[in-house]
Parts: sequence; C-alpha cells; structure tokens
Amino acid sequence: MPDSPPDVAALLLGWYAAHARSLPWRNPPGAALPDDPDWPYRVWLSEIMLQQTTVVAVQPYFAAFTTRWPNVAALAAADDSEVMQAWAGLGYYARARNLLACARAVVDRHGGRFPGDEAALRDLPGIGDYTAAAVAAFGFGKHAIVIDGNVERVITRLFEIATPLPAARAVIRARLETLVPTDAAGDFAQGLMDLAGRICTPRNPRCDACPLRGHCHAAAADPTAFPVKAPKRARPLRHGTAWWIEADGDVLTIIRPAKGLLGGMRALPSCDWRGTEADPPLPAAWRDLGAVSHGFTHFELSLAVRGVRLPAKPALAGDWLPVALLAGAGLPTLFEKAAVLARANMDVVA
Ligand code: SF4
Repeated sequence: MPDSPPDVAALLLGWYAAHARSLPWRNPPGAALPDDPDWPYRVWLSEIMLQQTTVVAVQPYFAAFTTRWPNVAALAAADDSEVMQAWAGLGYYARARNLLACARAVVDRHGGRFPGDEAALRDLPGIGDYTAAAVAAFGFGKHAIVIDGNVERVITRLFEIATPLPAARAVIRARLETLVPTDAAGDFAQGLMDLAGRICTPRNPRCDACPLRGHCHAAAADPTAFPVKAPKRARPLRHGTAWWIEADGDVLTIIRPAKGLLGGMRALPSCDWRGTEADPPLPAAWRDLGAVSHGFTHFELSLAVRGVRLPAKPALAGDWLPVALLAGAGLPTLFEKAAVLARANMDVVA
C-alpha cells in the first residue's frame, strides 16, 4: 500500500471541503483567514470552551460571550463574578478562572493581541500544547501540528502504529509532519478532527465511507486495535487494620477527618493504612476476622479486620450504632465490606 502524503492530504482536504460544519469560530475550508484582529480571540475562546464539552453545548455560550465581551481586552476588564456566572453550566470552573487569567495576561504582556507563536501561547495561563497549536493554526494560519486524542486515533490506524501511547506520541508527530500541507495546516487539522469524530470513531469506524481507506494500513485488519494503550501500572498494595468494637448490640463508628481519603465519612476506627503497625484503640482479646481489599485511584488496600465483643461500652470517642442498622448508616464501600466481614465472622472465629 503506497504511503503518499500529498495524496492523503489532498483526499482529506477534499473530504473536509465537502463535509465541513459551519461553526462561528471556524474559517470555511480553503478561505483566507478573516481580516479581523479579534479572530484569534474567537478561536482561543472556542478551544477553551470545547475542552471536555460538546460543540452543541458550546455554541450558545460562545454567542453570549462574544456578544458581551467581543474582544480579549473587554473580557480582561470584566468582573470575575460576571464571567463565572456566564460560564455556569459549562462546568470545570478552573477553566473559567484560567480564561480570565489568560485574557489579562494577553492584555498585560501582549498589548491585548494574542501572540501567534506557539511558545508564547504556551506561556499563557490555561494553554497547553494542543491549544497553542490550535490557536496558531486556526487563528493565525501557522504551520502547526495539532494533535489531540482524535488525531492520535486516526494516525495510529492509518500507519498501524503498534507502539503504545503515550510513547507513540513522538512517532505520531513525525508521521503527521510528513502529512500536513504547508499552506493548509489549519484545514488539515480541522478535517482530521472531523474525520475522527464522524468516520474514524473509537468503536465503529466507517471505513467504507472513509476518504483515506486506500492509504490506511489498519482498515483491512482491526482498526479498533489502535491506538494501543500501555497496560495500566499495577497499583501499590498498602495494608491497614480496622477495629470492630461491639458492646450491648452496638458497634463503635467514627467520622473520619475532613481532609484525606474518605474525608468526613462514617467509618470503623482504623489505622492510617501506611503499613505501620498501629495499636488497637484499647487493650482487649482481639480476634482476627479476616481482611477485605479495596482499590483506590493510586493504591490497593488490604484492610485486616480485628474484632472484640465487650460486656460494656468503653469510653472511646465516636458514635455507637446498632449492629443491625449499620447497613443503612452510609458507610463507604471499604467499611461496608469490613462490616459485612466482621458480622459474618464475629461468632465463628474463635
Ligand atoms: Fe479510520 Fe477506517 Fe479511515 Fe482507516 S480507513 S482512517 S481505520 S475510518
């Protein structure tokens, strides 16, 4: 199968010219950039809004923002609370705060005009590699290599790149550099992203309708095998102990400290899960009741459960709850598992 970059670019640009969606922040295919000094502002605003939000959801917000704050200087001068209010519904408020910080930085550092240079763009708040390349290409017509997850998918399929992500990124960039036409980098990137969204989708790519099929190495095999993802790293295993203290049909529970894992939630008394041997809350004839496992984002926890049934309630901080009602007490899953184990084993473990 021939890899002919000019053919790939021509096929993609032809498809994009026929299928491009008309969007208020997008230049029509093949057209010169608008003679409007605020065009990069519109491109930047749309890119920030589109992060983790759909085109359909963004359109009314984009219209409202550009009507109220038609250029970056107007946005920079806006009242923070008004901008936050206008952003409400788009989610991820950190983006709105970065939006304002970036607008103010453009005014302070660049006299109210976005720089067209990718490095200078990356220096601004809230602008990473992708957004810098997108603003350079779509806002200034620069020859920038725009790569997001969608582009990665198409390129790894086109060239059957078997290196797992993220290590494959250097190869993807090198391949893209051979494909991106010098005079139409913006249209090429928009076309690739549209193709990824409408044809070369993650689960059901429509290869029969794809203009690049004749150049695609994965089309005849299994496109959905690409991109290859690196296997998740095994999470470290931590150990801890929880104590089941029962007296008069009640069990002792505590509210965990507000900060930290499961902060502010009801739980059984336990150690800090750092693996250091912790003293039990009181000296007693503790019984080993087994252990439960639970996966947190960054580690796996094996929580040993030790129990004791006392003739009277000791003076310990916490709330005594009826054992029978513990299931409805809002314990997080980890402690729910520990409670189930304790109840099952308290009477059978010698
Ligand atoms: Fe994606 Fe199929 Fe087109 Fe290849 S032929 S780029 S796998 S849609």
